[in-house]
Amino acid sequence: MTSSEVIQREAQYFLGVYQRTPAVFVGGQGSYLFDLEGNAYLDFVGGISVNLLGYNFALLKQAIHEEVERVIHTSNLYYNLPQTELAERLVRSSGFSKVFFVNSGAEANEVALKMARFYGRRKYGNRYAYVAFHRSFHGRTLLTLGLTGQEKFHRDLEPFPPGIFFAELNDVESVRKVISDEVCAVIVEPVQGEGGVYPCTGKFLSELRQLCDERDIVLVFDEVQCGMGRLGSLFAFQHFGVRPDIVTLAKGLGGGLPIGAVLVNEKIVEITRRGDHGSTFGGNPIAARSACVVLNTLAGEGFLRSVEEKGILFQKELEAIRSAFPDRVQEIRGIGLMWGMDIPGRAKEVVSRMFEKRVLVNACNDDTLRFLPPLVIGEDDILRGLRILREIIAEL
Ligand SMILES: *Cc1c(COP(=O)(O)O)cnc(C)c1O
Repeated sequence: MTSSEVIQREAQYFLGVYQRTPAVFVGGQGSYLFDLEGNAYLDFVGGISVNLLGYNFALLKQAIHEEVERVIHTSNLYYNLPQTELAERLVRSSGFSKVFFVNSGAEANEVALKMARFYGRRKYGNRYAYVAFHRSFHGRTLLTLGLTGQEKFHRDLEPFPPGIFFAELNDVESVRKVISDEVCAVIVEPVQGEGGVYPCTGKFLSELRQLCDERDIVLVFDEVQCGMGRLGSLFAFQHFGVRPDIVTLAKGLGGGLPIGAVLVNEKIVEITRRGDHGSTFGGNPIAARSACVVLNTLAGEGFLRSVEEKGILFQKELEAIRSAFPDRVQEIRGIGLMWGMDIPGRAKEVVSRMFEKRVLVNACNDDTLRFLPPLVIGEDDILRGLRILREIIAEL
């Protein structure tokens, strides 16, 4: 079978909601993916912040194989070993009180928002509303889309659940303006991902923490994209030194298998009752075991420091491109191994030219390129990919 046969077959049977790039990937190694024809692509997308350990990571594969030999699924009516192990690791490494497992980022946010509403209703009776931010992205369920501050995701889907307000990132006064006695939670990405890679400032997050404390509002950090080592700290909140009440994780947590998690503090634990929530697959043994390997690897000697160092290299190279072509590259933003580069109107063109040169990058929109390489990427590959980017930008 050839790639074009696969692509035709997909078009015939698959609901046409994705805009896909014409590559059929059948293998990978380190930071490279291999297509059906045997071409190798350097990957600056990382499965959209999922493949933290790149491809074909031996320890991850081995652990998954072992777990498959035991039991694939048991349901949450009973206990399983990997889930318990993962719960302990996540709670101990985060300093939060408890964790709940789900299968995706949207679902993790739904749980966080439900818990916040339980908090608001059970403690105050009338608190149900949410505050989110312009340019945010929180998932594709109706509530998380409702909290997504980008018009393009709302089209033909109104009405959304009532009680959703938006504020400006890094502007605590704009939050104050929309806070009322009905608000139970504020949800924010410490670094906005899909919206174009916009980092919060530490000052803003601590002001937000203070505001939520004053009003006893639940503060949720959506770390689905920017958590799990990407900023050079295990959790994004550690990078900023601001502790929310709830942290949501997914994407990179399972290193490629679908799993999400919701970390909660004591204040949430206290209002939670048996029967409040559940999940058929959440904390599935295979996915949980995979996540244990990811956490263990990120905790390895020097791993997170190397992410930070590679992040500095990435920034330096992107800055050099920007200063070489100030007419084409407007701004770069990011932290660690999460970067955005504004190339107004030309981002999609650059993505397809990079693809022709067999380097994978992604565009958040027409203006912004996004880089989310595997955390294990080598400096030589960073330099190689960004050299190709530079050549392409020079030719624009
Ligand atoms: C991707 C993403 C989500 C949604 O995750 P899914 O696993 O696709 O449901 C939520 N929040 C953020 C910040 C994301 O980047």
